[in-house]
Amino acid sequence: MDLFEYQARDLFEKYGVPVLQGLTADTPEEAEAAAAKIGGTVVVKAQVKVGGRGKAGGVKVVHDPAAAKEAATKILGLDIKGHVVKRVMIAEGAKIAREFYFSVLLDRSNRTFLSLCSVEGGMEIEQLAEERPDALAKIAVDAVSGIDLDKALAIAKAGGFDDATAAKVAPVLVKLYDVFVKEDATLVEVNPLVETEDGQILALDGKVSLDDNAEFRHTDREEMERDEIDPLEAKAKAWDLNYVKLDGEVGIIGNGAGLVMSTLDVVAYAGEKHGGVRPANFLDIGGGASAEVMANGLDVILGDVQVKSVFVNVFGGITACDAVANGIVGALAKLGDSATKPLVVRLDGNNVVEGRRILAEANHPLVTVVATMDEAADKAAELANR
Ligand code: GDP
Ligand code: MN
Repeated sequence: MDLFEYQARDLFEKYGVPVLQGLTADTPEEAEAAAAKIGGTVVVKAQVKVGGRGKAGGVKVVHDPAAAKEAATKILGLDIKGHVVKRVMIAEGAKIAREFYFSVLLDRSNRTFLSLCSVEGGMEIEQLAEERPDALAKIAVDAVSGIDLDKALAIAKAGGFDDATAAKVAPVLVKLYDVFVKEDATLVEVNPLVETEDGQILALDGKVSLDDNAEFRHTDREEMERDEIDPLEAKAKAWDLNYVKLDGEVGIIGNGAGLVMSTLDVVAYAGEKHGGVRPANFLDIGGGASAEVMANGLDVILGDVQVKSVFVNVFGGITACDAVANGIVGALAKLGDSATKPLVVRLDGNNVVEGRRILAEANHPLVTVVATMDEAADKAAELANR
């Protein structure tokens, strides 16, 4: 699970990493009130799980509550790389003297932890790595010895810090590593880590990814998940569906991640002939697609206002096609009048003849059964473009 910046900030605070005050707001009025509460100069920051908000107009420094309200009006609803801003954080303003970069992450290919550090922060790390690779230190971190004060000093020095600044920054790096280990994170990134004009070190923007495999060790994660503010993603999560919202018009349901990914490809390809329609989501309902799981999946997809048609692409394996067909018929019965968009169904594999017979017999007005995946993608794209 990737955290929002405000969630990372709260986590940092819990571990004694120096951060500034930050309050969330979902409306311009709440933003105004938060700015008044914090007082003085504040920064209005878009809460989306994507970097480069600064450049996209999602970070604004303002000097009074009225200006915070105005900035929030502009930022809320903004589309940043396909993520629509639903919430902002109002953060206490900092007088920045210098911006640094620090992260610690799981380096799968080298089977170790890795720390990245640079005295030159602020800009996007990919850009720094490309333009000035020498300025970015990459130091392996042993999982057993971790980052103690000596290791932190070595990392900071490798990142180009002078001795005096390294000494100030090192204790913060130790605390950030503490967050990384104790929270079972796969990434803790601070960009920028700053030195203020009066010499304080502060973590100004944090990005944290938590390892879902360790969820059972953490009781506070459900609360963070509930904060997922995209209603479709929240609904999918509640039903344990493997769902990712995309920005197209053709809803997709399939069984098996590989099949669903290739379905996205064929739909995107077919869409080029039909007004440029594109897949609306990724949704893998897995092997045992019961009527209930199918109904839940359809419910999520039909709740996406951008969806104009749905492509159900199922390959019967352990769960045979007749069970899947019964699942689709049952799902449509369960959804009743709330199912309003055309469904294109492609069934193949185990017991396909019986599966198709069940769908033909049900003769649901919204359902079109198509024999092949390419034809089905074409039909779904055509329907979405009507
Ligand atoms: P990102 O672009 O999504 O990584 O968002 P950041 O939170 O990193 O903000 C981008 C830039 O805004 C930072 O590099 C800072 O230069 C600036 N910024 C963020 N917070 C403050 C602040 O409190 N005061 C000032 N003066 N600038 C800030
Ligand atoms: Mn940043």
